[in-house]
Amino acid sequence: MLAPPAPLRLVVDRAALTANWRAFAAAAGPAACGAAVKAEAYGLGATTVVDALTRAGCRDFYVTTWAEAAALERIVDPARVAVLHGVQDGEMAWAKRTRSRPVLNTPAQIVRWRTTGRPCDVMVDTGMNRLGLSPAEAVSGLLDGLALDTLHSHLACADEPAHPLNVRQRTAFADIVSRVKPPRAALANSAGVCLGPGYAFDLVRPGLGLYGGGPGPAGPPVPVVSLETRVVQRRRLAAGDTIGYGATFTAAAPTEVAIVNIGYADGYPRALSSVAPALGRVSMDLVAIDVTGVDIGEADWLPIPFDLPALAAASGRSQYELLTGLGGRYDRTWR
Ligand SMILES: *Cc1c(COP(=O)(O)O)cnc(C)c1O
Repeated sequence: MLAPPAPLRLVVDRAALTANWRAFAAAAGPAACGAAVKAEAYGLGATTVVDALTRAGCRDFYVTTWAEAAALERIVDPARVAVLHGVQDGEMAWAKRTRSRPVLNTPAQIVRWRTTGRPCDVMVDTGMNRLGLSPAEAVSGLLDGLALDTLHSHLACADEPAHPLNVRQRTAFADIVSRVKPPRAALANSAGVCLGPGYAFDLVRPGLGLYGGGPGPAGPPVPVVSLETRVVQRRRLAAGDTIGYGATFTAAAPTEVAIVNIGYADGYPRALSSVAPALGRVSMDLVAIDVTGVDIGEADWLPIPFDLPALAAASGRSQYELLTGLGGRYDRTWR
């Protein structure tokens, strides 16, 4: 099918994605290694990521909503997909017509789902106070009669290895697991896997690390995402000329700039205004880049550095925000 030309690309490195998943799988030891693919696999494109990870051997996928699960139905067996936000009353009819599992978070969700007799996961809160049953509810007999697949909990501070809450949550979860005896138990996100084998239980749920962010179990993950944008116009500035809104950049000498097709509407944060390689302000759809002495012209492709730790430090945004903010105007290309 003829597609309209996309003047910016989000390039996903398939080998890097697969290598990162294998590194997490190896660090998880005998535990299974799943993947958090919510929010379009952190902006990379959920269907292509799930397809690549399935080929690598991944069997457990986590999304946020039923719409996200539905989008994967043609890519992966729906029974391998779990919906982290559980199932509300108004979602029951939909949830019953797919084989994806809800991750039940509240007593009301459990009572509602038990009548279906279908498989489900359950989240128990061990100190984050976000989603999940209390430990007391989890061991109260409330889960009796559920077709439980996996009992989950989630770490609040795994990216701070010395934080005392890590050990407290692991200990509390191990106690609940020993009493509920679920078929499978899962606690660790990417940073949780890096805390060591004591956090892996039966199954781990990395997200960020697969996509090249955060720490990895064997050193930093391999970068997965790179950006390329087309030059819309090349221009020459004389000394004293300024660039962009607010005229915040003044050329000290004759300067050649490429005006490229990316901006804050593409998740290139405005906070990166005047941060290399951007000269002056980041506009909604355009950035000026110094190309003095570089042989590049109108319609050529220019790589835009997408080093997650460096961009996060320079922009004040988390690596999660940078990835999930990349938006819908990219042509997502796999190499
Ligand atoms: C998003 C999420 C993950 C993945 O977390 P990362 O920090 O990206 O590895 C794991 N578990 C749950 C419950 C999540 O919501």
